[in-house]
Amino acid sequence: MSTIVNRRDVDFYLDEMFDLGSLLASDRYSEHDRESISAILDLCQSMAEEEFLPCAAEHDENEPVFQDGQAITPDSLKACLKAFVEAGLPAATFDHDLGGMQLPVMVANFMQGIFQAANAPAVGYVFLTSSNAHMLQACGSEALRERYLPPLVEGRWFGTMCLSEPHAGSSLSDIRCMAEPVGDGSHKLTGTKMWISGGEQDISENIVHMVLARTPDAPPGVKGISLFLVPKIRVEEDGSLGEPNNIALAGLNHKMGQRGTTNTLLNFGEGVIVWVTSWGRKTKASKICST
Ligand SMILES: Cc1cc2nc3c(=O)[nH]c(=O)nc-3n(C[C@H](O)[C@H](O)[C@H](O)COP(=O)(O)OP(=O)(O)OC[C@H]3O[C@@H](n4cnc5c(N)ncnc54)[C@H](O)[C@@H]3O)c2cc1C
Repeated sequence: MSTIVNRRDVDFYLDEMFDLGSLLASDRYSEHDRESISAILDLCQSMAEEEFLPCAAEHDENEPVFQDGQAITPDSLKACLKAFVEAGLPAATFDHDLGGMQLPVMVANFMQGIFQAANAPAVGYVFLTSSNAHMLQACGSEALRERYLPPLVEGRWFGTMCLSEPHAGSSLSDIRCMAEPVGDGSHKLTGTKMWISGGEQDISENIVHMVLARTPDAPPGVKGISLFLVPKIRVEEDGSLGEPNNIALAGLNHKMGQRGTTNTLLNFGEGVIVWVTSWGRKTKASKICST
């Protein structure tokens, strides 16, 4: 018997409580049926039990370490996430035209639950990435989506959310991170973000930070907060990686649980910043350019 999931419960929720059948009858999910959904859950369960669960205690005992300005994660953590990415699971809920599996979010939530039961801190990186990519898909300009979404959906790059600052957690209206326009649609961003999960790691090729900051003319309070897409490594027009984007890992925070997911203090310098959209204000398109 599985120690991480009761599949009879999962089936009960999917079929009896949430009526997955009627969802699968819609055009959007026409490539899936109940059998293929069970096969995907089988795959998740075996990967969670065979790859993620056996090293969960190790990840808890050996949290990532800060070394020469970098966060070094255990090899077994990298191996788990490599298997997850190679199985195409980061693309679970994304559209077919993005290379996604176009699964119902309800099914993806059960997939997520199975992995979290096995080793939540390990999958923290990829589920943060999924949320980050969904927000980019919903709010980003076409140019940003074209450049950043495919590697996030493939799981080659991971994503974060950078809201909190050392003096501002719940009170986000007090954030001080400043983004100054350079006149071509991009911004220079300076400031410090605290408690950022997955803010630095040595697992993915790049990290896409979604950063809350103010512009110089912003009104006070939450209405003055904008959202910026800030890559760890700058991305060239052809999608290849360029120079580091001047984001320094100032330190790792130590936690009592979920220790496999790095928790970071990040200093943003004056790198090339890509503007996504204003928060709570009218959405505009943006373009990528250098200072
Ligand atoms: C494991 C972990 C991972 C995190 N990952 C991220 C991340 O990836 N990105 C990110 O941006 N942040 C992250 N955070 C930060 C997290 O979002 C903040 O901790 C959270 O917003 C609370 O802020 P704070 O810690 O400053 O607490 P405070 O805001 O100082 O709150 C302290 C206490 O006061 C209460 N409180 C606060 N305001 C009020 C109010 N107005 N009325 C009544 N009670 C109130 C709170 O409920 C809480 O009990 C992470 C935190 C942890 C612990």
